[in-house]
Amino acid sequence: MELNGLSLWETIQERLKEKIPEQTFKTWFSPTKGISFKDNILFVEVPNPFFIDWLEEHYIEILQEAALSVLNRKVKISFMTNTTKPVNPEPVLKEIVTFPSPRSNLRERYTFDNFVVGKCNQFAQAASLAVAKAPAKTYNPLFIYGGVGLGKTHLMHAVGNYSQSLYRNSRVFYIPSEKFMNEMVYAIKNQETLEFKNKYRSLDMLLIDDIHFLGDKVSLQEEIFHTFNALYGAQKQIIVTSDKPPREIPSLEERLISRFQWGLVVDIQAPDLETRIAILNKKSEMDGINVPEDVIFYIANNIRTNIRELEGSLVRLLAISSLTNTEINLTTAKEMLDSIIGSKRNQINMNSILRTVADFFDVSEESLIGKRRTASVVLPRQVGMYILRELTSLSLKEIGTKFGGRDHTTVLHAYDKISKMIKEDKDFSNKIDKIIRKLIS
Ligand code: ADP
Ligand code: MG
Repeated sequence: MELNGLSLWETIQERLKEKIPEQTFKTWFSPTKGISFKDNILFVEVPNPFFIDWLEEHYIEILQEAALSVLNRKVKISFMTNTTKPVNPEPVLKEIVTFPSPRSNLRERYTFDNFVVGKCNQFAQAASLAVAKAPAKTYNPLFIYGGVGLGKTHLMHAVGNYSQSLYRNSRVFYIPSEKFMNEMVYAIKNQETLEFKNKYRSLDMLLIDDIHFLGDKVSLQEEIFHTFNALYGAQKQIIVTSDKPPREIPSLEERLISRFQWGLVVDIQAPDLETRIAILNKKSEMDGINVPEDVIFYIANNIRTNIRELEGSLVRLLAISSLTNTEINLTTAKEMLDSIIGSKRNQINMNSILRTVADFFDVSEESLIGKRRTASVVLPRQVGMYILRELTSLSLKEIGTKFGGRDHTTVLHAYDKISKMIKEDKDFSNKIDKIIRKLIS
């Protein structure tokens, strides 16, 4: 008998087949391969690290017995993975269903139904929906990135909730990466690493939030890497969120970057005015409260970069109005939100506004505040006036003085004109958004 690793392992496997149920054999031994037999050590390749733990824990004795019966001597069996290429074993990890399944941690209120779709998030939403309907069949992993408060966590839970409603038995688990690390540290301290590994590697869908936290944490990256391989190899869905695309996360290992890019990487942008209005309308509708249109517009127009803040303003409005029994209208709303919106305004310096507007339209600052009425400078000037009024607490008169001693009615006219254009012209409204975002970020 030839004693190379491959045929030796095959012979041992034949013996095993007689001793263990067929399904167990298919699950745990069909995807393995004998590599070499040297110095009395048989090296066997397995699809992922989870196999190593599992085989050593459950089958090492029976394996050694089988090897003894083949070779008439004791051999050491060493399992290894080939992590340099994607693993893709045929069988599903059936045995694992016997583990107690962890609570999913899903937040029920984050659903697709109450996720407002706009240009800023339509790709992320569509990809998420596809993943929820057919986990591990479309985009795996799904990597969603974007700034704070733009709906990454919401979307991730929506996938989990919807998918679980379609596939009742599927084990979905949500965890922020910081918590994942805490659990890992706890498991190491308490010698429960096997339980820890089993818990994660037995899932159907793993949702890891805010992975940028991984940054320079080497051991955490290592664990995520192995968990990723195990799940991916077993054709289970992985969804990851981050504040940056994989390649821009500082100190993220190349092998993780490349794995995160195997599936689909989508971003969520800050919402445009229309989407902000839709979100506010949806939220007030969900709360059963009628907020006047001009108030919605006022909030949407003043809070641009963060949906959490947008919601926060609405909640504040509703809370104050019901506490003080005041009707919500534009005047009361402005007062109630003064601490949020007003403080933002005061932080912004007038000169930086003029500079940014001038830059954006590619005109000089002098001409922006100058006397001439050439066509190329009229619109930028009106935008400058509008933004000064929106973002500072300067009076119309003060703004007029700044713009070459113009009358306050001229400023008011500019303000009304730009407001109207914002409402009517989406492209224009996006331009104004862009300028304001530059100023407040
Ligand atoms: P992130 O994880 O990107 O920081 P979150 O998912 O926590 O942001 O979203 C912040 C808040 O904004 C949440 O309450 C969420 O429900 C809400 N939100 C974000 N995007 C949308 C959207 N498109 N439609 C409705 N609500 C949204
Ligand atoms: Mg989040």
